[in-house]
Amino acid sequence: MVAQIIDGKMFAASVREKVGGHVARLKSEHNIVPGLAVVLVGEDPASQVYVRSKGKQTVEVGMKSVEHKLKAETSESDLLALIKLLNNDVTIHGILVQLPLPKHLNEDLVINSIDPTKDVDGFHISNVGLLGTGQKSMVPCTPLGCLMLLRDHYGSLSGLDAVVIGRSNIVGKPMAQLLVGDNCTVTIAHSRTKNLPDVIRRADIVIAAVGRPRMIIGDWIKPGATIIDVGINRIDKPEGGTRLIGDTDFASCCEVSGAITPVPGGVGPMTIACLLANTVTACCRANNLQEPDGLTA
Ligand code: NAD
Repeated sequence: MVAQIIDGKMFAASVREKVGGHVARLKSEHNIVPGLAVVLVGEDPASQVYVRSKGKQTVEVGMKSVEHKLKAETSESDLLALIKLLNNDVTIHGILVQLPLPKHLNEDLVINSIDPTKDVDGFHISNVGLLGTGQKSMVPCTPLGCLMLLRDHYGSLSGLDAVVIGRSNIVGKPMAQLLVGDNCTVTIAHSRTKNLPDVIRRADIVIAAVGRPRMIIGDWIKPGATIIDVGINRIDKPEGGTRLIGDTDFASCCEVSGAITPVPGGVGPMTIACLLANTVTACCRANNLQEPDGLTA
């Protein structure tokens, strides 16, 4: 079998188009412009790239983009004061604090100071609880992107066996909640899981969110299964320089699986597209307007 390649780049473009269409309607029919504020503390190069890319795509879909770049030594009270201002700003519908934060700042405290209705990353404890109890919430962007790809591929996920490898708060756990919500039978595997290959072999859907290059090989995959590779690993190229690869051994997994997301070009582009989707969803909720279909869980 040669796996179908799930084109996340193309799907993300269709999500952005849908968001853009909704933004245009909000403007023309209600004179509302959704606004996203991104807060970056410090000079981490990877975070700077992400923030730039988020700002660019926000503007491209017609939304207002605000960037707050703070010095690495910013005090917790100054950061909390900025978040309070953004919470009270009616032109801002989404607030994202780029993680990781410098060590002297308490990440949980900072994230939980964001108004949960503006928490477009879906990391606020209220949103975690709402998602866990199957209620309307802001859904973390990367798992939401994976869910959209799976729904598009299968139509219904009901009754499928899914394995999520990784139990982080930002990917693994919310991913598992979303799959349960779509009636999958879900196993969460992690660093202490025994017989990982056997656990993976039972799954119709494999979500790899570990951060270990090429860890999952084709021999562990049930024939015809769908693989969603969340992993982003930078490796050295033999000819010099570096490149990104996922958590799966792409070549051997392609021979056995029915469908697979590539790295890059799979889950990655979906994450920012879902951030834009969450911002437009938050804007609609804040204004008691109907939310666009298909942009949330
Ligand atoms: P994390 O380090 O917080 O979690 C990794 C998880 O993998 C842990 O729960 C751990 O138990 C599990 N694990 C580690 N070794 C294992 C092993 N040998 N067997 C089974 N499980 C094992 O990482 P994270 O933040 O969840 O991110 C995971 C990966 O996804 C990383 O590569 C990250 O860069 C990537 N990521 C991608 C996106 C995207 O937009 N595509 C977004 C977030 C994270």
